[in-house]
Amino acid sequence: MTSAVERVVIVGGGTAGWLAAARLAAARPALAVTLVEAPDIPTIGVGEGTWPTMRATLAAIGITEGEFLAACDGSFKQGSRFDGWVSGAADDRYLHPFTSPPALPMRDLLAAWQAVEPDRSFGAAMTAQGSVCDLDLAPRQRTMPDYQGAANYAYHLDAGKFAALLRDHATRRLGVRHIADHVTGVRRGDGDSIAAVIAREHGEIAGDLFIDCTGHAALLIGGELGVPWIDRSDTLFNDRALAAQVPVAEGSPIASQTVSTAHAAGWIWDIGLPGRRGIGCVYASRFVDDDAAEATLRAYVARVLPDAPEVPVRRLSFPTGHRARFWQGNCLAIGLSAGFIEPLEASAIVLIELSLDALVDNFPASADAMPIHADRFNTLFRYRWDRIVEFLKLHYVLSRRTEPYWLAQRDPASVPPRLAAMLALWRDQPPSAWDFPQVDEIFSAASHQYILYGMGYPLPAGPAASDRARAALAEQRQRARSLASALPTNRDYLDALTGAAATAAE
Ligand SMILES: Cc1cc2nc3c(=O)[nH]c(=O)nc-3n(C[C@H](O)[C@H](O)[C@H](O)COP(=O)(O)OP(=O)(O)OC[C@H]3O[C@@H](n4cnc5c(N)ncnc54)[C@H](O)[C@@H]3O)c2cc1C
Repeated sequence: MTSAVERVVIVGGGTAGWLAAARLAAARPALAVTLVEAPDIPTIGVGEGTWPTMRATLAAIGITEGEFLAACDGSFKQGSRFDGWVSGAADDRYLHPFTSPPALPMRDLLAAWQAVEPDRSFGAAMTAQGSVCDLDLAPRQRTMPDYQGAANYAYHLDAGKFAALLRDHATRRLGVRHIADHVTGVRRGDGDSIAAVIAREHGEIAGDLFIDCTGHAALLIGGELGVPWIDRSDTLFNDRALAAQVPVAEGSPIASQTVSTAHAAGWIWDIGLPGRRGIGCVYASRFVDDDAAEATLRAYVARVLPDAPEVPVRRLSFPTGHRARFWQGNCLAIGLSAGFIEPLEASAIVLIELSLDALVDNFPASADAMPIHADRFNTLFRYRWDRIVEFLKLHYVLSRRTEPYWLAQRDPASVPPRLAAMLALWRDQPPSAWDFPQVDEIFSAASHQYILYGMGYPLPAGPAASDRARAALAEQRQRARSLASALPTNRDYLDALTGAAATAAE
């Protein structure tokens, strides 16, 4: 006889917990989904940049794009711009856009780029999206069907409002049971399994599958099941962040990309929402103290928003690493409980979404099938964490900055062996799908190309520029012109949307 998996208990109500509850309840309505969250333990409250996967996630959950943008003070994200990462000079900037280069061999495209427009950056030459970003344009018109655009895009959002929207949607429309209580213990089943979590007021909450979304506490996967933590701080040194929310003037432009500006011992994120900018400083405590980092953050705010009032700054610290396994017995870790690597390139929420895609598509029908699913999940997600570590490190090893932090980042002892091997290979050939063969790679070959050539990595020898590659780049220039006249600015799009939402609510 087999025991069916019918009851899912999620512990934790941050972005991970509520995404898990909504995604599972929407995909598998027959499941009984319960979410327990401690009202006395706050969520981390940051995490404002997403990946284009969020469009499919929201559609799968059944939230409309207009509802999402209005409820979360959302805006569009079309990529990340990196300022000051190569040399720190005033004109040192490049874009990692979400739209891939034209579908031609990269060697051809590189040759055409060099032949036709060597003075333009790689990102600007390969896609019209750079011009769209330069003009602060939205990636879509409001008449387009939800979640479709003229260019690939994700979102910036208010993290607290996002969790609230998901909670409301999951409990009111998807039948998720919400328990506000503090989990204090666990009743174990056979072997590695959990039979129930024990909550302070509600006592035992039994389940067949448990999802640990307790953030850095990792109550179940770490605290109860003792799955080891794998530290990755030998490769990526940042362990602190300062976060500020800076109000902006009504009608001011809203950027289409996250701006990541390098500083002497880390970098600053700058995320534009309709009513404020989320600005934060990420740094390595080994190289700079908290007060000096705060001075760096405040100097940045004074430079980009000279009229802004002085705002409070939150101090956060985080470990760099992940669990050795993410699914143990009948418990899965999703979100910060599974691991965290600094916020560069916003890899955390996308990993939550990919974990949920994998779970929904391979939901264990019975407890007997659980070990097979767990093994597969653990292998796939270990692969993904390793690729994230390497991709983030790529941004540091290609820098030519000379402060001690940046020199240490380039120390060969801190570079993962696979990344070192890839860098050697990429002297001969551009990054390709051969290097990233998984379905749903978080960072595809195109992402690697944007960083590599954006930061001036030597181009591999190639053929003369072909006519078709020249034509493909000319097409991008033409497309940039037509998008410039067809797309609204982010500000116009979002103001019209929230104006319409307010009118509808009256
Ligand atoms: C500085 C910084 C910037 C970031 N920026 C980005 C970004 O731009 N993009 C991105 O994708 N990600 C980003 N992240 C990561 C992102 O914030 C998280 O991945 C995301 O918010 C998910 O967090 P979580 O839900 O796992 O944990 P949390 O938000 O910490 O939620 C934990 C939940 O567990 C509950 N809980 C804890 N203990 C108990 C208990 N005993 N009983 C019951 N409930 C309990 C708490 O009440 C809370 O509800 C960033 C992270 C940091 C630190």
